Amino acid sequence: MTAQIIDGKQIAADMRAELQQEVAKLKEQGIVPGLGVVLVGEDPASQSYVRAKERACEKIGIYSDDNRLDADTPQQDLIALIKKMNANPKINGILVQLPLPKSLDESEVLLTIDPDKDVDGFHPMNVGKMMVGEETFLPCTPHGIIQLLIRSGVTLEGARVVIVGRSNIVGKPLLNMLIQKNPKGNATVTVCHTRTKNLAEHTRQADIVVAAAGRPNTITADMVKEGAVVIDVGVNRVEDATKERGYRLVGDVDFEAVKEKASLITPVPGGVGPMTITMLLYNTVESAKRAAGIETKK
Ligand code: NAP
Repeated sequence: MTAQIIDGKQIAADMRAELQQEVAKLKEQGIVPGLGVVLVGEDPASQSYVRAKERACEKIGIYSDDNRLDADTPQQDLIALIKKMNANPKINGILVQLPLPKSLDESEVLLTIDPDKDVDGFHPMNVGKMMVGEETFLPCTPHGIIQLLIRSGVTLEGARVVIVGRSNIVGKPLLNMLIQKNPKGNATVTVCHTRTKNLAEHTRQADIVVAAAGRPNTITADMVKEGAVVIDVGVNRVEDATKERGYRLVGDVDFEAVKEKASLITPVPGGVGPMTITMLLYNTVESAKRAAGIETKK
């Protein structure tokens, strides 16, 4: 079997077109969703993520309030900026690009964000709501993965899912979402990590394998069953002298071999990545609707 490729770029483009229409309708009612973006320091990867997020906002009509702070910005200045954004009715979502420079207390910063504007879904209040199945902002990468699966026609109900990786931004929230008793969940989920014994024994049982380990070739062809759906979250740089920049990006899955066994597979790049920013836009639009008392999506 050769897998069908899940085209994350296309699915993200479809969702962004839907959001653009929604934003246009909100504008007719005088509502302009706004995202406050904070980048501290000059980490090149963070700079490029933040630029991509700002461009994406502009493209669909979300107002973006961009803030660039020096790496030596004192904690109290950053906290003051977030409090100002919390109080600004034009801003419906606040995004603080992580990681922050080591001199700053990341936890205090994230706790300062108003949970009603926490479009990344990392505030403990929203993490708790997600866990008990209350309406809240769902973290963007795992929510994007669920959208990719649903929009590719994959049945989640009753599916055996194995997630490799237990981080707070991917593995744990994805587990929480997939076990909810609702149409985006109802799966049976196993979460694996570096202390898991015989990883392949678990992944071979899975109808859906999600690799979020951050290591190339974590999932090889012998580790997936015939016809499984494989979602590759990993983004890893490997040296490549043929590329001008000296490296290329690969996922956690041995793509070429696994695609001969899977039924559906995401590529890297062009799979999960484009969905992450899309879900941030989605959360910002939902937040603007909530603030205006308009019914939100379930
Ligand atoms: P992380 O915080 O480094 O967590 C990695 C997880 O994988 C840990 O739980 C670790 O186990 C587990 N792990 C690592 N190697 C393993 C192995 N050989 N076998 C089993 N488990 C293993 O990473 P993250 O932030 O979740 O990100 C994971 C990957 O996804 C990275 O490549 C990241 O760049 C990428 N990512 C992509 C997007 C996107 O939008 N495309 C978004 C977020 C992350 P322990 O807990 O035992 O250490």
